[in-house]
Order: sequence, then structure tokens, then C-alpha cells
Amino acid sequence: MAKLIAPDCRQCRREGCKLFLKGERCTTKKCAMERRPVVPGQHGAARKRVTQYGTQLREKQKVKKAYGVLEKKFREYYEEAERMKGVTGENMLSLLERRLDNVVYRMGIGSSRSESRQIVNHGHITVNGKRVNIPSYQVKVGDVIAIKENKRDLEMFKALKGMKIIMPKWLEFNSEKLEGKILALPKREDIDLNIQEHLIIELYSR
Ligand code: SF4
Repeated sequence: MAKLIAPDCRQCRREGCKLFLKGERCTTKKCAMERRPVVPGQHGAARKRVTQYGTQLREKQKVKKAYGVLEKKFREYYEEAERMKGVTGENMLSLLERRLDNVVYRMGIGSSRSESRQIVNHGHITVNGKRVNIPSYQVKVGDVIAIKENKRDLEMFKALKGMKIIMPKWLEFNSEKLEGKILALPKREDIDLNIQEHLIIELYSR
């Protein structure tokens, strides 16, 4: 499967904001955006004039990197969002949030989206009792997301037992039972990343 290969912290520095790609490290002082928040490269710190197109492009790259989605799939989300009722930008973010790897991350099962994607890829997650190993799987309201029963003794999941996990209100996760539920579809205000989605829509509408 194709994937992004640039080092995580370099991607954050390129986009000028925290994308939370490295789990716990992202909330500590070791975070590269705390220590060296400049664009990587020899002339990274130099000021450059940014065009409107450049601003729109950077915003798209930022969101793609945050969710770990490649261009083709990202464009498909845009096209689907356009066909849906409502505001295209908000629809697109909702589709990204409803990816199974993102839900696993939001529920606190994985410490980052990339780790959550691996957890899904390795078949550790069930949706409504059936194993699902497709990170882009779109969850629906009422879906029950759980850690597969015969995987619950893995160290990484044992550590979750009884843990208090803070998550968006459209989700719930019972850390004793190691299963959670989709309570509602994500709304714009549930998405905490600093995103100006209208810039992405403008870019694709050119
Ligand atoms: Fe980004 Fe996390 Fe690296 Fe900080 S530690 S620069 S938030 S990936």
C-alpha cells in the first residue's frame, strides 16, 4: 500500500503547525515544533512571498498529512463531499473523521493516526463484531468498534484497561470492555485541528 514517507516532524515543520503524527511525543517539549518551529532546509527560516495558490496548496497538504491520506483518495473525499447535501468543506472533514483509523485514534486505542492505521491493518479491530482491516472504512452512527477478543491480551491494549480517555462527543469508548460506539456523525466543531477547509475547496474548484 502506498504511504507518506517524509519524516513525521519534518512534515509538521513544513506545514508550520502540529499535526500530531507521533503520539505522546507531540504533547511534550521534545516536539520539534516546540524546539525548532521553522520550515526545514537551508533557507527554511527565510521569508518568502506566498501566493494565494500557495496558501491553498499548503492547507490541502496539511490536512492530507494530518489524516495520512494520499492525493487520489483525498480528491475522492472532496468529490464525494461535493455530491453530499450541506457545506462541501465540512462534509469533507466529516468523511475524513469517519475513517476507521481516525476513529481508533480518537478513541485512544492508538496514540497517533499512523499507529491506529497499523492496528486496523493488522486486523485487531472489529466493527459490529466483524473484523475490518481497511483503514479508510467509513463508520456509521450506531457502529460498535471493538478490539478483537483474542487480541485483548496484547500489551498495547492491556494498558488501556480502565484508562480515562478524553474523546470528541460523537464517540464513546468503554476502556473496561475495550469497545466503543459511534454516537453521532462528527460536526465541524468536533474537529480540533486548525483547518481552513474553504482554502482546499477553492483550490479544487479552480
Ligand atoms: Fe509534529 Fe508530533 Fe513531531 Fe511535534 S512531535 S513535530 S506534533 S509529529
